[in-house]
Amino acid sequence: MTVTLLFFWVDDWLQVGKLLDITGAVGTYYLGVSRNARVSDAVTQAHWSIRGHRNRHFHDLYARIRNERIPHDEYGSDLVLWKHSEDNYKPHFSSSRTYDQIRIRRSKVGWSKSVWFSQEVPRYSFIVLLAVKNILSTGDHMRAWGIQQSCVMCGEPDETRDHIFFACPYTFTVWDRLAGRLSGGRSDPNWDTTLQFITNNDLGSIDKILIKMVFQTCIYYMWKDRNERRHQRGFRTVDQAVRVIDKAIRNGISSLRYKADHKLAGLMQRWFEVF
Ligand SMILES: [Zn+2]
Repeated sequence: MTVTLLFFWVDDWLQVGKLLDITGAVGTYYLGVSRNARVSDAVTQAHWSIRGHRNRHFHDLYARIRNERIPHDEYGSDLVLWKHSEDNYKPHFSSSRTYDQIRIRRSKVGWSKSVWFSQEVPRYSFIVLLAVKNILSTGDHMRAWGIQQSCVMCGEPDETRDHIFFACPYTFTVWDRLAGRLSGGRSDPNWDTTLQFITNNDLGSIDKILIKMVFQTCIYYMWKDRNERRHQRGFRTVDQAVRVIDKAIRNGISSLRYKADHKLAGLMQRWFEVF
């Protein structure tokens, strides 16, 4: 299947999950791409035909899409070239390379240390970025459009970014189980306190890396969990969620072992100690 035939909003062609889950239904309006459009419908005459560059809520998604090489059927039935760096196009998609191209300008922002770090998993950090900027399609953002969305995990009527990360009793229990010992008992349900702690703390160098990995993985999976519940695709208990995230963290650490940084060898051992 070529990328051009994938559905723009519900197929994972950008490798960040369903775009519809990220923006909510209003995304179709802001980007000017209809709900049933194929990826090819968002391209006219070799240019991305999407709106949104002036809209602060959707600017990052807009930039991310504009960074993608225009998919085109002429490249063959299943060959699409992706931009890896300036004038360097390859047939395989590398989300980290694509990501490198739009992340550099952000490196000076204070919270950027919690989003961008060398051990990041790009699909996690993209969701963290949207959470930090508070532009995930949480209930409070949907209200202006007449859509009522309460928390699908605990029933709280006001579903906000701060509620999901991690004022919600469900997500906080998961976060506390994963980060409690690592943070020295300082896991906190308050978003600002948490982000501040992730960005700036007195933990040792290995633990500093670990807490960011746990934070990113937890944000990604709690948001995924929320979307699956919302679309009746799944339901996890706290124990199940903790197991899924623990496994994802271990996978993340394992994949780092092939990289040069020898300091990372201690990460897995430390994770076993504090989890
Ligand atoms: Zn809740």
